[in-house]
Amino acid sequence: MTSSLLLGLIGDGISASRTPRMHENEGAAHSIPTIYRTIDISSPHLAEATLTELLTAAIRLGFDGLNITHPFKQQVIGLLDEVDPVAARIKSVNTVVIDSTGRTTGYNTDVTGFAAGFRAGLHGAATEVVVQIGAGGAGRAVGFALAELGIRELIIADTDVQRAEGLAADIVETSAVGTRARAIGLDELEGAAASARGIVNATPVGMKAYPGTPVDTSVFGAETWVADVVYFPLETQLLAEARAKGCRTLDGSGMAVNQAIDAFELFSGEKADAQRMRETFLSF
Ligand code: NAD
Repeated sequence: MTSSLLLGLIGDGISASRTPRMHENEGAAHSIPTIYRTIDISSPHLAEATLTELLTAAIRLGFDGLNITHPFKQQVIGLLDEVDPVAARIKSVNTVVIDSTGRTTGYNTDVTGFAAGFRAGLHGAATEVVVQIGAGGAGRAVGFALAELGIRELIIADTDVQRAEGLAADIVETSAVGTRARAIGLDELEGAAASARGIVNATPVGMKAYPGTPVDTSVFGAETWVADVVYFPLETQLLAEARAKGCRTLDGSGMAVNQAIDAFELFSGEKADAQRMRETFLSF
């Protein structure tokens, strides 16, 4: 068994992340002393640091693993010794395991995390046609997870149409179950949402800094399910309005907790306790 864990999160503006506490508490519960540091490039002393420098420093200082977040999830791929096939397919890594020789392997637990959260929170939800809004960092993971979950037709909208088109093309190219994916313009969003069985928000809309909803919820029927990846706050305006219409909803905590559960197992070789991880996440 791992005797201790030294972990970190590399990203921009991550000081409020709940991930360090989830790993430190879970490590302690498994009698594995765990230190998890945020390595925030918005800190003045890291203003000039490159990802290569930070990764090299972590390897040299004996870190056992790293989580990687915005803006480095794609860039880190080229710096690793090995990349898990799922992460390579979606071109995004959020978890790096560093072995005792310094060898690095990249994984993506955002995909498995969203899928696990969806299975737990929206079990049995209709999978025919789903509209996904947002094709950025979280959106790429969500899109591939939805394809893995067996969504038959995935319609993707993003203010950056090229981003939506790129994600749709990548999903079509790699889907093992033949998911049909296509991009639409924002002018087609309401019409698509009105006839979809499910809606997923993977934009920052709903956060304090981006108030409102990414789509007009008056087009939802009571049988439409609605998922949000935003978790600051957990109850977004989109989810509140959808719930008021009687829709089943899924908040962003499932993805956030399950990505950490899967990463903890990769770092420690131990199964995390899902209930305990969730309680830690919600205790902030
Ligand atoms: P990002 O900037 O990489 O991507 C956001 C995408 O949304 C961009 O492509 C942008 O063009 C698009 N967009 C923005 N406003 C839009 C609108 N009104 N209509 C259509 N498209 C729009 O950001 P990200 O890293 O993907 O993060 C998005 C949200 O997901 C944030 O709130 C973040 O906190 C959250 N997130 C949650 C989890 C989780 O575990 N639950 C994980 C990662 C990110």
